[in-house]
Amino acid sequence: MLAAVSDPDGREVLDPATGEVVGRVAFGSAEDVDRAVATARAAQRAWAARADSERIDLLLRAADAIDAAAEPLAELLSREQGKPLNGPNARFEVGACSAWLRATAATELPVETVVDDGDIHAELHYRPVGVVGAIGPWNWPMMITIWQVAPVLRMGNTVVVKPSEHTPLSVLALLEVLNGVLPADVLIGVAGEGDVGARLSSHAGVDKVMFTGSTRTGQAIIKSSADTVKRLTLELGGNDAGIVLPDVDPKAIAEGLFWGAFINTGQTCAALKRLYVHTDVYDEVCAALTEVAKAMPMGRGLDEQNVLGPLQNRAQYEIVARLVEAARDSGATILTGGDPDPDAPGHFYPTTLVADIDDQNPLVAEEQFGPALPIIRYDDLDQAVAMANRLDVGLGASVWSSDRDAARAVVARLEAGTVWINAHGGVHPMIPFGGHKKSGYGLEFGAEGLKAVAVPQVING
Ligand code: NDP
Repeated sequence: MLAAVSDPDGREVLDPATGEVVGRVAFGSAEDVDRAVATARAAQRAWAARADSERIDLLLRAADAIDAAAEPLAELLSREQGKPLNGPNARFEVGACSAWLRATAATELPVETVVDDGDIHAELHYRPVGVVGAIGPWNWPMMITIWQVAPVLRMGNTVVVKPSEHTPLSVLALLEVLNGVLPADVLIGVAGEGDVGARLSSHAGVDKVMFTGSTRTGQAIIKSSADTVKRLTLELGGNDAGIVLPDVDPKAIAEGLFWGAFINTGQTCAALKRLYVHTDVYDEVCAALTEVAKAMPMGRGLDEQNVLGPLQNRAQYEIVARLVEAARDSGATILTGGDPDPDAPGHFYPTTLVADIDDQNPLVAEEQFGPALPIIRYDDLDQAVAMANRLDVGLGASVWSSDRDAARAVVARLEAGTVWINAHGGVHPMIPFGGHKKSGYGLEFGAEGLKAVAVPQVING
């Protein structure tokens, strides 16, 4: 499978755990984007003209094809992205790809009758938008590609996918599996750097862009898509807060808190990145979390015992290291971690918990996007809510309490697209997902996700 996407003259892609070459990939040019868009456009009408049941059947067959190739896909993903095979990582991600395809195939989007009063009969239909550009990140490269392309294809659109320059092999291998089932030219990948994404987002032949990545790049896409008035779904960065109320059992919530923050070694848009803990339980929560964190093995992804891996790239490692050092310099307490081995191969940064830290500290205010969690003490709930809401992003948030009503009262005050109670970061193919503030706009998943890759058309008469 990899042979078909590996180009001997292409750019080296390195294993973030070892520095070894995983494969080589040809990076596309602006002309490659133009050709891909023209090809996708030529295929779109015939794809849209197929019965919905046919597209559903093809998505289900694509899910089966992923399942059949699951192990080699997971191994490639583990080597290229760094995430371990086990834990909520590579095998989990590949499994999510087929699960998402099946759920997208099963989602209903019936025609809505909006007025039917004897005089007027008006219905709302959803038509294909046309050609979609799907621009993705390096943290969950396969799963996010499926999040983007599954609803796009289901609704009768064709799609050009631009994977991150850091994880192109995983995405191209996934597309190859899907294209073993799908008709030609409805799903096309063009690897490359930001210029390929920029070309897609300004292209006159692209009707909509689905983007997951940083707020900064999302803003660039908004600007470059303005001339063509493209529709956009933007899933941008976050800096999710969790608030722990004084009534929790610290030991009972410690593992949930840990995975909320450290899933994919913290490289997750909707991971818990700032934890606000009431002073009554602060020391116990810190102790319980530290115990869980110390027990989680980190190492090369292909080693079956590991559940945490390296940072995917050096730039992200440097961000995490800089922010932890800023916290240390400010006098915060490093409960565990914070001491990377400068001579070790790969971009490994140890699991790091930081206590006694001020809310203004850069480790709290900036998205670290890695295995470091600041734990901030509070004694007044209003103060905790104000701190949680003070940033200009709002993807997710969580409230932890043994009293569901008390938790829900806090939820209503939080500025975030999703708020979990006694959990953080779980997503589901039928539950809409999207951000608040600079975390982006537009919903993914479920019927709302199908609507987002379609154009509403009213039939009046
Ligand atoms: P980016 O937002 O830069 O990259 C995401 C995707 O956009 C990549 O495919 C990238 O290509 C592409 N891209 C870059 N520039 C443009 C452009 N002008 N127009 C269109 N597409 C473009 O994220 P980074 O990988 O640089 O990560 C930076 C930060 O973003 C991280 O530190 C983290 O905080 C956050 N992030 C958030 C993610 C999320 O899930 N919301 C995922 C990943 C990162 P290329 O890779 O070639 O640069």
